[in-house]
Amino acid sequence: MVNGEKLILDGNAVADSMKLQLEGRIKRLKERGITPCLATILVGDDPSSATYVRMKGNACKRLGMTSMRVELSASTTTEALIAAIRELNEDRSVHGILLQHPVPHHIDERAAFEAIAIAKDVDGVTAVGYAQNAFGYADYPSCTPAAIMAILAYYQLPIGGKHAVVIGRSPILGKPVSVMLLNADATVTTCHSRTSDLAALVRMADIVVAAVGKPKFVQGDWIKPGAVVIDAGYNPGNVGDVDYEACLANASAITPVPTGVGPVTIATLLKHTVHAAEKLGG
Ligand code: NAP
Repeated sequence: MVNGEKLILDGNAVADSMKLQLEGRIKRLKERGITPCLATILVGDDPSSATYVRMKGNACKRLGMTSMRVELSASTTTEALIAAIRELNEDRSVHGILLQHPVPHHIDERAAFEAIAIAKDVDGVTAVGYAQNAFGYADYPSCTPAAIMAILAYYQLPIGGKHAVVIGRSPILGKPVSVMLLNADATVTTCHSRTSDLAALVRMADIVVAAVGKPKFVQGDWIKPGAVVIDAGYNPGNVGDVDYEACLANASAITPVPTGVGPVTIATLLKHTVHAAEKLGG
């Protein structure tokens, strides 16, 4: 989509093209008696997490895949969560496992992520999945970072030799997308809450990835004219981490929220689950 000279990076278009490619693969799996199945685990009653899980389950169903929902109470222990994950690891009808982040504070989330079998780690949350991604050969890199790379690829936006500034260093988003951009030959600066003079660093960026978790955090005058702006943020009220209107003024290309990175993240999760079903069989 073009707005004047600006390219609005339409996540729905990217997601649709990914889902179209999955239809034939799902049909062929079903002919073999295999229906790709994503198991989602929701712990507690956080309404945003419940919405994300529901959206992922509905997306599976729309493509003719199965979604198995595991819901555990907020008082679930780390041990009980790990036991539930191990059951899904053993269940041959399940091909992908997604533990919705964040889990309640008393749970050791890292231990729970590590309990997911690597063959079913379709969101790249295990240490092994993370390391494979860093080496550049992961079957299942984290879905949001992979979605960001898919958007750049779909719109043929060059990465090699560009300076990418990533704001955020979380293990599911900032760090893995930094390494993916590095593997795609960008020069990468990863920023975080202790970074000095963030605005000056962002002003040097050809590609800006906002993964902060703060609404409208990235300001318009931080954006170098012609930069590509990817807003991975998703805050209450469908607000991203970028001040969209202000950043649009300087950017050459930008993702809107909610129709930017979000739908591509879900399509990536479906793609990884189909791939896992092809590898694991029934
Ligand atoms: P997170 O774990 O809270 O990490 C936020 C990162 O931002 C941290 O690395 C933090 O630095 C950094 N940060 C916080 N304040 C900062 C500041 N003032 N200046 C510079 N950096 C700062 O969040 P996350 O899970 O990565 O998620 C980030 C955003 O992406 C959220 O809006 C979330 O909703 C969204 N998200 C979207 C999708 C999707 O599908 N679209 C998926 C996942 C997440 P420190 O490390 O120093 O604390």
